[in-house]
Amino acid sequence: MAARSPQEWTAELAATGVNAVALTWVDNAGITRVKTVPTARLEHAARWGVGMSPVFDVFCVDDSITTSTHIGGPVGDLRLFPDLDALRVLAALPGWAWTPVNRLRQDRRTHPACQRSFAQRMVQLAEVDGLSFRMAFEIEWFVGLTGPEADGGDAVPACQGPAYGMTRVVELGAYVRDLLAALAEQGVPVDQFHPEYAAGQLELSTAATDPVSAADRLVLVRETIRAVSQAHGLRASFAPVVVPGAVGNGGHVHLSAWLSGHNLLAGGPGRYGLTGRGESMLAGLLAALPALCAISAPSVPSYLRLVPQRWAAPYQCWGRENREAALRLVTGTEGSQATAANAEVKCVDGSANPYLVAGALVAIATAAADRGLKLPPEVTVDPATLPPDEQPPRLPRSLTDAVRELDRDDVLGTALGEPLLAALLAVRRAEVELFKGQTPEQVAAASRWKY
Ligand code: GLU
Ligand code: MG
Repeated sequence: MAARSPQEWTAELAATGVNAVALTWVDNAGITRVKTVPTARLEHAARWGVGMSPVFDVFCVDDSITTSTHIGGPVGDLRLFPDLDALRVLAALPGWAWTPVNRLRQDRRTHPACQRSFAQRMVQLAEVDGLSFRMAFEIEWFVGLTGPEADGGDAVPACQGPAYGMTRVVELGAYVRDLLAALAEQGVPVDQFHPEYAAGQLELSTAATDPVSAADRLVLVRETIRAVSQAHGLRASFAPVVVPGAVGNGGHVHLSAWLSGHNLLAGGPGRYGLTGRGESMLAGLLAALPALCAISAPSVPSYLRLVPQRWAAPYQCWGRENREAALRLVTGTEGSQATAANAEVKCVDGSANPYLVAGALVAIATAAADRGLKLPPEVTVDPATLPPDEQPPRLPRSLTDAVRELDRDDVLGTALGEPLLAALLAVRRAEVELFKGQTPEQVAAASRWKY
């Protein structure tokens, strides 16, 4: 969409019946928070920002508030500045438009804990080395009934058909059609949609784009799915685990790295056409996965999902098209490698803040690009079927373990910066306390409708 001035946007939105604009950011707990302005106030918001307390950096999933070294308490103010280039009219929420924000201080300097600014900063740093990245978040969700049938907060699937079954498409035909129509109207390029494995689970994938736009797009698509679900009397859950013991909702990220117009994961002399830099980046990513988990699988329920043999891929290993390897190399159909080759990071779920994930992946890959790192041997089987002493290491088994890994990771620590790192670690630790002693059923029930 061509760039428009705030005045042009205001006129256009008013003319198309848009009454208000939702300004969203995603907090460290993975919750999309919002302030809204009437359309007539958008110009003012674009010029001066909208006030918001920095304390939201230490909000937890249940809306309790913790504190951190740099951020906490009731004092202070930030300004939410809408990124009008990303503004979309919400096709499934009549009268509404949406735009992501960057959070600035009152002196107009970037708030050091702004997650979207972090992702932008990492992209800019990579550009200094001539590197650029393309990313796409897969979106898995559970669609459930509401009302008396769902008995309050229970997860009652809105369809009965089998996994990947056409029956589910027929059962939910109007719902899926309305979703695809809304996304098309919003200019979201959808690659595909399918019914997923777990009861009531669906999946949508969108085209790759730059990392910040990919994160924006994830927020937009999630809120569109939520709105379409509601219009159909249904409810969507993006939570890592909806029903304990069943397959959970992943939010896998596909990424490729580019230098001078060339995909570094294709056309090189290495295994599967990897270039030296491409392999070094993948090796760096593989090594960093345990620490990344505190960002990509950032909640207590994340670890109910991250278990073997559910394609959640809880092993620190890589493999071409291995869906139990946390780093899955995708080379594409013969002939398409130059554009299609990418790596899928599978240890990502719906409770993750996509800006933190995007920024962290770019930071890790950029730091590794020129280190000449080599990938360890590929894992070509389901790791769980190997004798225990031959299995690759498991990724963290709890949020506490992941937090420990992130706490000692220099690359991510430096990239995030102390205020953001301290705030997100504080949230993780507070959520560990929050769910202490709770059963998987209690954890799932408490988080099911939050993300
Ligand atoms: N639902 C699985 C997960 O938890 C992923 C299934 C797939 O590979 O698409 O990540
Ligand atoms: Mg899937």
